[in-house]
Amino acid sequence: MDENELVIIGDTSGVSWVVPVKRFKGINEAAPKVYMQGALHADELPGPAVLHFLCGLLRQAEAENRIVGDITIVPQANPVGLAQQLFLQLQGRFDSSTGTNFNRDFPLISLQDRELLLSGEEAKTAIVKLKNRLLNMALAADIVVDLHCDNESLFYAYICEEFWPDAKDFAGALGLHSVFLSDGQSTAFEEAVAYAFRQDESSDGRRRFVTTLELRGQSDVDETLAKADATGLYNFLTGRGIIAGDAPEQSDWSGKATLLDHIEVVRSPVSGTILFNQSLNSTVKAGELLAKIITNPGDENGVYEVVAPQDGTIITRSSNRFVACGDQLYKMTCDAPTTAQRAPGALES
Ligand SMILES: [Zn+2]
Repeated sequence: MDENELVIIGDTSGVSWVVPVKRFKGINEAAPKVYMQGALHADELPGPAVLHFLCGLLRQAEAENRIVGDITIVPQANPVGLAQQLFLQLQGRFDSSTGTNFNRDFPLISLQDRELLLSGEEAKTAIVKLKNRLLNMALAADIVVDLHCDNESLFYAYICEEFWPDAKDFAGALGLHSVFLSDGQSTAFEEAVAYAFRQDESSDGRRRFVTTLELRGQSDVDETLAKADATGLYNFLTGRGIIAGDAPEQSDWSGKATLLDHIEVVRSPVSGTILFNQSLNSTVKAGELLAKIITNPGDENGVYEVVAPQDGTIITRSSNRFVACGDQLYKMTCDAPTTAQRAPGALES
């Protein structure tokens, strides 16, 4: 394993950021290349834990000369976000100086323009430089996995429709509960990679693939889970021939892939204290009680009831217990399209 560091010069004098990059050199230059990163949303820490254990597995494979394609791992991709400690709480989703989501506003460019991402850095802000450097590394790869997590959540992944059902081996190797089929219309890291892949016709028939892997909830940082997920990623790479060896026999993935239009993002129309009535993986019927919101504590009529807009399965739940008007309570996968107004692109800001 070779290790180097990206050094990102900060926006004020005396400040710079360091991003460690681990590279495992493949024995076959023509084999597909892999890029994985964790904690772009800096407060989503299952990713660094999984990639920590994956690096251990890859060091072992390297010692046995079994790394076939180049593998680049950035276990902790966002030191800028990681340093945003506000009143003892890590604020890792949005850049505190601009309010921009760390996983939005990635440039949509073609693969041929990859090197342009590194030009004129002196005139760019630290966060733009960081995003461009990360995207530059990813666009050198054929398989890209961006590791995130949700609030409280089952194990799922966003995958652009064009990579499905080709990527069923990924869902099976990881044991995902669900796949959300995205429309490729956002500027998230994953979709910027998908955009560049889509423009390129010279892929030599390689099975390109990019995904945002949602490693359950923010509190699901656990050694047993992280080792199992690292093994899942390792087996996926073995199955794709990027690591030499036998991947375990896989039965057909039995989960469900759902278009984003068929996902209900259940929001509260009122503000108050949340009493959840449903757990993850609950199956609910239209009109069934999902949560009570105590809008006026102590009042006889101080509770608002949120009900299911249609039949579905609860995939995620807010980890907050106070909701402001319009905040998200759950994401549900459903058989019918949502009737809520939804712009193309990401489900949430
Ligand atoms: Zn995230």
